[in-house]
Amino acid sequence: MSTDRSGLMMRVAEVEQAASLKGDVSASPLQRDLERGLRFAHVMMSINQLEGREGAIFARALAELLVGKGMLAQEELQTMMSQVRQRMEAQPAPKVMLARTEDKYGGEHTVLLDCASRIHICKAKCCALNFYLTDQDLDEGIVRWDYGRPYWIQKGEDGYCVHCDRGTWRCRVHSYRPYVCRAYDCRNDERIWLDFERMIPNPEL
Ligand code: SF4
Ligand code: SF4
Repeated sequence: MSTDRSGLMMRVAEVEQAASLKGDVSASPLQRDLERGLRFAHVMMSINQLEGREGAIFARALAELLVGKGMLAQEELQTMMSQVRQRMEAQPAPKVMLARTEDKYGGEHTVLLDCASRIHICKAKCCALNFYLTDQDLDEGIVRWDYGRPYWIQKGEDGYCVHCDRGTWRCRVHSYRPYVCRAYDCRNDERIWLDFERMIPNPEL
């Protein structure tokens, strides 16, 4: 089983590598994104195949062994399945993730801060944080996601969201911005502020 685990870890590393590749620099950004996305999809398919096959082999061998020996009790099997499931969930694995939120246009969750008076200090660092989009964002097709890490917000090479205007730090898709951009409250986020009220930013900004 250790060989299978090391095989899986290699595949995880391949996904990470595929996600970080810049692709052919002479190609258009769309072509590069598609290339990265296809690589991600193919590596994920191959991981799923590998894991599925190994799981089937293991389950069949175990069942045949236990049936052959007359040793299998349903209760013991359930307990063991639960323990194995917990161990497997703790293993690192590349995931396709979507955030689950209420309707982003609902309004109740929207946090209103006077960003304009602070943005020269915080440099809109909130727009360099990582988060996943929702079904609603994907359906709208306006906010862009990272093809190499579906469905993470797409970032530029400087680590900022691609929708953040680098001259003004304003959001270029403000009306369509994701749920988390509406609900995020930086006041107690130590990654941004040492002291929000006194406008003292984290020196690592
Ligand atoms: S870090 Fe806070 S104050 Fe600065 S732009 Fe983001 S939400 Fe506004
Ligand atoms: S969508 Fe807009 S508000 Fe949200 S991270 Fe990007 S630039 Fe910032």
